Amino acid sequence: MSILVQNIIPILKAKAIGNTATAVIDTVSIDSRSLQNSANTLFFALVGPNNDAHVYIEDLIATGVQNFVVLHIPEACADKANFLIVENTLDALQQFAAYYRSRFNFPVIGLTGSNGKTIVKEWLNFLLSPDFNVIRSPKSYNSQVGVPLSIFAINEKHNLGIFEAGISTVAEMEKLEKVIKPTIGILTNIGSSHDEGFLDLEEKVKEKLVLFKEVEILIYQKSDIVDKFILPHTKTFSWSFSKEEADVFIYKKEFEDQNTLIHYKYKGDSFKLKIPFHDQASIENAISCLMLLLHFDYDIATIQSRMVLLFPVEMRLKVKTGINNCSLIDDSYSSDFQSLKIALDFLESQNQFQKKTVILSDIFQSGLANEELYSRVSQLIVSNNINRVIGIGETIAAFKDKFVNCITFKNTAEFIANFDELDFENETILIKGARSFQFEEIVYLLEEKTHETVLEINLNAISYNLNFFKSKLKPKVKIMVMVKAFGYGNGGLEIAKLLEHHKVDYLGVAFADEGISLKSGGIQLPIMVLNPENTSFAAIIQNQLEPEIYCLKGLYAFLKIAKEKNLHQFPIHIKLDTGMHRLGFEEDSIEELIATLKGNETVKVQSILSHLATSDDLKHRDFTLSQINLFDAMSTKIITELGINPIRHILNTSGISNYPDSQFNMVRLGIGLYGVSNDPAEQKYLENVGTLKSVISQIRTIKAGESVGYGRKFMAEKPTKIATIPIGYADGISRGWGNGVGFVNIKDKKAKILGSICMDMIMVDVSEINCTEGDSVIIFGESPTVSYIAKKLNTIPYEVLTSISQRVKRVFYR
Ligand SMILES: *Cc1c(COP(=O)(O)O)cnc(C)c1O
Repeated sequence: MSILVQNIIPILKAKAIGNTATAVIDTVSIDSRSLQNSANTLFFALVGPNNDAHVYIEDLIATGVQNFVVLHIPEACADKANFLIVENTLDALQQFAAYYRSRFNFPVIGLTGSNGKTIVKEWLNFLLSPDFNVIRSPKSYNSQVGVPLSIFAINEKHNLGIFEAGISTVAEMEKLEKVIKPTIGILTNIGSSHDEGFLDLEEKVKEKLVLFKEVEILIYQKSDIVDKFILPHTKTFSWSFSKEEADVFIYKKEFEDQNTLIHYKYKGDSFKLKIPFHDQASIENAISCLMLLLHFDYDIATIQSRMVLLFPVEMRLKVKTGINNCSLIDDSYSSDFQSLKIALDFLESQNQFQKKTVILSDIFQSGLANEELYSRVSQLIVSNNINRVIGIGETIAAFKDKFVNCITFKNTAEFIANFDELDFENETILIKGARSFQFEEIVYLLEEKTHETVLEINLNAISYNLNFFKSKLKPKVKIMVMVKAFGYGNGGLEIAKLLEHHKVDYLGVAFADEGISLKSGGIQLPIMVLNPENTSFAAIIQNQLEPEIYCLKGLYAFLKIAKEKNLHQFPIHIKLDTGMHRLGFEEDSIEELIATLKGNETVKVQSILSHLATSDDLKHRDFTLSQINLFDAMSTKIITELGINPIRHILNTSGISNYPDSQFNMVRLGIGLYGVSNDPAEQKYLENVGTLKSVISQIRTIKAGESVGYGRKFMAEKPTKIATIPIGYADGISRGWGNGVGFVNIKDKKAKILGSICMDMIMVDVSEINCTEGDSVIIFGESPTVSYIAKKLNTIPYEVLTSISQRVKRVFYR
């Protein structure tokens, strides 16, 4: 795209400020973190319930961005860039996308439904790509923001579009319809339940059908409720398992090995189609694809030859631990320009190592000529500061000269043969390739092999939970996030990186070495150390960490070093004891504290804090209020007598929920970020972050009278099928969870733990579960939850989470 900003003004009905006459834009962005932002980016400053992108504008101008769509011009930015002022920046984004869409005139498939949208989209792309230059929404970009962004990726070479639309409440679809303007509609599985955000199933169906207001043809599974709401003028092409009057009637399904044979009637004839799946969802999604191919008049042989090749769709970008201290981003199932852009932004947000390598296959269906395509890929790679490119495939090899520091291989096998010479070490590696290149073999080589137990961390859930708590804060209240004990067991550095992106104000750790490892991992946020030993003061200063000072002895020791090192205004945090009786200055030492700090220029009281002993238990409400009052009084005294203006903070997670009037200038969020609340009502609003998973190593059936495990603690009363799982108390599973108390989840069924928990293994009862060796096992996550386990074990979720040993591999995904 290349558009004069001048021409955008009337489309957005914007008020323009700045030199818009000559400005040209070629990309649109809403992500302040993207390294792909440039002088020719049009940045839309979106405003959400918890985030306001206007705060990033100053930084963006500093990096060279010149054109902004805003609600208002941030104070410091006037005269420094071009601004289009609008009433609603999201509406403006959608209006601009609708305008951009209107410049193209090829068939566009619009997909909606409750399930299967992304899969049908990916499959159609695969099925149609031999004949069309397809543009499709990347990943699951189907929201009010994602749809416009998908549309901006259209270029002159495309001749078919596939876009998905997802909505969560009424009135949203009308907006997406205007942006996508589908000419062909596909309604995927609509689900039987009604979703939150809709009154009932009818309202949901009615709302989804708004997408198809003006389509030339609508493909859908016939059902009374959908039929009731289809607009009279809409032409339809329907299918059904039960209604013979549908255009395509599926009268039989036959299962054979891994395949399903679908028998259907169409235009009076009977046909058979083989697809490589068994499950009902995949069968329905495949039929949606079949319908589209029939509508396009593909012959039966072509349809069959392509549809047997359908594949499971991998939708998430996974972060994995690699060999030689590398970090891997596994996106080994797709290779197109749009998803490369997304993956590179994700790589940037993971920013763990200075050194970054991209392993990239040939790129298909960009809609561009290869020459231009690889020039653009090279630009992207340069703007994302990638150090090394490893190209795999004959086409990318032919354009090797476009890249700096690039090695190429003809195919994956050649790469593997030369693997040892490539020296992967201390770097982040993005692995991105089209399916046919089988990059999963590369992932396998690069992945660190441990035993099969992993703790999967959902980074999106962390962002979600952070925003949930942020929404409870009054304006201007800062947020410190506690990442002590390795991010409550969830992984320190990765989570800190994410928090840095979300611009939290502070991180908190327990000990200096935790802070040092975050700083050496590249974290720039200020970090408070809760429990600095006097011996670590030198390291604290050297690493620009900020100590919590909680007693006079510590204060004198720190001031001594501060003086020796000639420090000036080094930030320290003063901890007051208001009733927790753990660490902190007591009331009677305040005078001496004030006298010591008065006139001392080596340090600066950055904040004053205290900690609540029982913020989660409303039985002790009076006690907590007395702590808060005492904190207010003591800190006010310090502030007045020293004439300073520090940040004050006392609330932890349950404090944020239960004492909203005592936020002072900052709160300290801990367990809530990791998806655990002490309040069952609040728990409903949080997303699960960690899932502890393993696999079945072995299955056997024992006879009545036989025993299981050490001490023969379990005696079988009847023949019992036993599965052994490689996780034990050395991984952090409490022995109290054994002997029939606890269970794991296999195939969504509970499997009781039999006998004692061993150091590295447990045995569970799978008599009633249809499972095999290698099947996945969930130890905790959605079910059982950490809170549930904690309750049964008579402890708290904090202990369960932080007990998971460091030998358990952490895998991050979003
Ligand atoms: C751990 C900790 C927190 C966070 O507590 P949560 O209950 O996990 O929110 C806050 N402040 C201090 C001093 C802490 O030690």
